[in-house]
Amino acid sequence: MAQNMIIRAPLKRYEKKLKRFSRALNRKVHKSKNWFKQKDRVARLHYRIACLRNDAHHKATTDIVNRASAIGTETLKVTNMLKNKKLAKALSDSALGGFLEKLKAKAEARGIPITEADVFFASSKTCSSCGHKKKDLTLSERTYHCSQCDISIDRDVNAAINLRNVVVGQTETQNACGVQIRPNTVQERARETEAGKVVWKQLKLFPI
Ligand SMILES: [Zn+2]
Repeated sequence: MAQNMIIRAPLKRYEKKLKRFSRALNRKVHKSKNWFKQKDRVARLHYRIACLRNDAHHKATTDIVNRASAIGTETLKVTNMLKNKKLAKALSDSALGGFLEKLKAKAEARGIPITEADVFFASSKTCSSCGHKKKDLTLSERTYHCSQCDISIDRDVNAAINLRNVVVGQTETQNACGVQIRPNTVQERARETEAGKVVWKQLKLFPI
């Protein structure tokens, strides 16, 4: 059974504060006493955000490996996503790389397999109930409405269920283009990333 869990990035809470602090820093005379003071404040806030993020990652990954018998992740093409300003911010805030590193280490320590769906797997566009594929799903559509079976489901939950189906049953082994979905290990994927391929993993992680 899937227990869906959406992990929130921490920076949002502190975004306004950080903006205010940074603006104040810009108004101070460069290298003046007050400038250094403000610079300290900005640095402390950055550190606080980093700690919160790290803590959230540890809590979430521990929770996942405590409940999961298998873990599925999905690759994202980050180069295209970075062109979208809002998405770019959300991506850097969630710091997926660090999150998956922790998850991978904890899963490996417990012998939990990690499966990764291919980058072309249409997890968001596919209906998790009947398998119908939507061609024109925009990012602003946060709820998935299926025209075939008439269900309404949270967009991310829908994608996570599709991903689970790949991990559990390997039922869908081909995507819309007929390309084989290749479940490979995180280690393999990491090597590809090192080789210069910009791939990131999906936010949608779920215990099963
Ligand atoms: Zn459907």
